[in-house]
Amino acid sequence: MGANRDLPTKVCAVCGREFSWRKKWEKVWDEVKYCSDRCRKTRQTVNDSGNVKS
Ligand SMILES: [Zn+2]
Repeated sequence: MGANRDLPTKVCAVCGREFSWRKKWEKVWDEVKYCSDRCRKTRQTVNDSGNVKS
């Protein structure tokens, strides 16, 4: 029959990479915008002042 891996994907709002559905996101998938905690934290830092300081 073919691969049984038809997982949904999204594009990370921070790094722009495509990432796949994970089991840990099964209840919050609609809210997931970032591929990782690292990107999520980066985003929060950006939102704080509106500018990226790195
Ligand atoms: Zn990312």
